[in-house]
Amino acid sequence: MLRNTHAAWGVASAAAVTHCESVGQIIAVSCVGALGGVICDIDLFSKHNHKNRLARIIIGITVFLILLAAVDFYFHLGIYRHIYAYAGFGQSAGIIGFIALCIIFMAAAHRKFSHSLLACALSTLCVYLIYPPVCIGYAAGFISHLALDLLNRKPEQLFFPVKKGVCFNLMYSDRTGNTALFLVGILMAVIFLAISFMKL
Ligand SMILES: [Zn+2]
Repeated sequence: MLRNTHAAWGVASAAAVTHCESVGQIIAVSCVGALGGVICDIDLFSKHNHKNRLARIIIGITVFLILLAAVDFYFHLGIYRHIYAYAGFGQSAGIIGFIALCIIFMAAAHRKFSHSLLACALSTLCVYLIYPPVCIGYAAGFISHLALDLLNRKPEQLFFPVKKGVCFNLMYSDRTGNTALFLVGILMAVIFLAISFMKL
């Protein structure tokens, strides 16, 4: 599936499994859900002849973090304050570990280690060390990516280091099936986010 589809399902999955107690937490969970939904395809940013893609990733993340900080400050959401509350050796280790995993994802072949339950567990551990309240949402987003890619015709190495990949061979990742799943993902994200807001 394409990135927008994974992001939509990541947000929907994270919102579905996380009980949020503030607007700031809903926004944080949505962001990490989308991150979990797209992170294992990060290798696609750095391949296929696009020399500047790594720079674009770094610039994109920086701009996103600045915008989030501006929204956080303006609306007094407390997102960064909550994250800062977990500052320490564990959080630093989580950040370094997560960046290291992203580099490994980019260096490895597509749908190998990055699309495994092991990668999901390791990166979720890093997110837990960085900011524990959102780690379940992140894991849900990551698992939604693995589940959606199982529908594709190209296998993913779900049980890495077992070499044999798995897929249900049902659809191409960039055709009508992807469009339908994108619309379903958007609808689910809107529904689960609306439920989260109503529960505040
Ligand atoms: Zn994928």
